[in-house]
Amino acid sequence: MTPTVTDTPRGARGAGWALVVLGAVTLAVVALATPWRALPGGAPPVAPDPARDFTPAQIARAESFDAAVALPSFLSLGLTLVAAGVLVATPAGARLAGRLRGPWWLRALLCVLVLTAAVELLRWPLGMWAETHLRGFGLSTQTWPAWTADRVKNIAVRTGLLSLMVLAVTALARRYRRWWIPAAAGAFTLTVALSFAYPVVIEPIFNDFTPMPAGPLRDDLLAMAARDGVPVGNVLVADASRRTTALNAYVSGFGATRRIVVYDTLLRAPADQVELVVAHELGHAKAADVLYGTLVGGLAAACGACLLHLVVSAGPVRRRTATVSPGDPGAAGLVMGVLALAAVLSGPAQNLVGRHVEARADAHALDLTRDPGTFAAMQRRLAVTNISDLSPNLIEYLIYASHPTAPQRIAMARSWALLNGVREP
Ligand SMILES: [Zn+2]
Repeated sequence: MTPTVTDTPRGARGAGWALVVLGAVTLAVVALATPWRALPGGAPPVAPDPARDFTPAQIARAESFDAAVALPSFLSLGLTLVAAGVLVATPAGARLAGRLRGPWWLRALLCVLVLTAAVELLRWPLGMWAETHLRGFGLSTQTWPAWTADRVKNIAVRTGLLSLMVLAVTALARRYRRWWIPAAAGAFTLTVALSFAYPVVIEPIFNDFTPMPAGPLRDDLLAMAARDGVPVGNVLVADASRRTTALNAYVSGFGATRRIVVYDTLLRAPADQVELVVAHELGHAKAADVLYGTLVGGLAAACGACLLHLVVSAGPVRRRTATVSPGDPGAAGLVMGVLALAAVLSGPAQNLVGRHVEARADAHALDLTRDPGTFAAMQRRLAVTNISDLSPNLIEYLIYASHPTAPQRIAMARSWALLNGVREP
């Protein structure tokens, strides 16, 4: 079967209009649904100040940890961008496919595997470098075999998903001239299905989860959830200590798969601080943040499918990459490059929205517990144990900060205390 020619102006124009409309809908949903202000307008502003809550030694340790891990992580990011740039601006992908033999799907699949293997091999020493620093600072508890197993599993999951997406795009482009329509619908559906199945399909690959043992802490947490009007059957404990000393908790899934998970490392903290962490997670559950994030992510993925159609059918891109048609296995590298660029470039926007959603969950925890003192103590414990960046520079903040910084979160607790006439921590 010869690949269908798909770059008719008609098909591209449809994808362009769909991108404009879907993009406008996505932006409108984000603009209206994001909690841009976590506290009411009358809350007195309090400036974040690391020196107020952290000792000079703690600040220095956070700075030296940041300096140690920044280089390997920036190099890894740079490698991703360079590899993606090569795939969208040179005929490297098409040349690789030209050397392969077999049916179209096998050649497309082999392209994904070979290109992923090449990038991951280059990235491997950077990962070892970063891991060495994590061990030096006492954050990682892994042996090299365990670290390797984790990394291989992680690469396998990502490559499996990437293969699925590339094969789907190639198959749709061979079958339909306006392949962006089924691709956009498929991208939305895949995002929703993945987010729903994530806690029961992906998370168990990396961790074991056990229900929190019966006792006063569990009783207190479930009572707090009931008081909050959030139905929680159980709190799960992840065996994170096999990997890290870091503290964390999260909500994942929605509907039947929704769960609140705490790291086993967190259970060493005082009970009232664990309660505050769970109160924050109840804020996410109550506001259905995972479902909201999934739907916005699905809309963004559908926009991405339209954008992908426009990019891979654009004349200059096709000439530079020697791509005959997106239905040709030679386009697999180009599709991978576009997906990688989209993932990196959309990160800062996801973080921007995510930080506001996190601030709302913090405000919820403060409203529920009315205990800004314990909130601040918990934030200090999280930041010191996880060696969080207390004052990231602008680039780090945009690229990596999925949460407000600890000093920002403590400043918000002080603002909440002033607003509510509770003693300021
Ligand atoms: Zn959160």
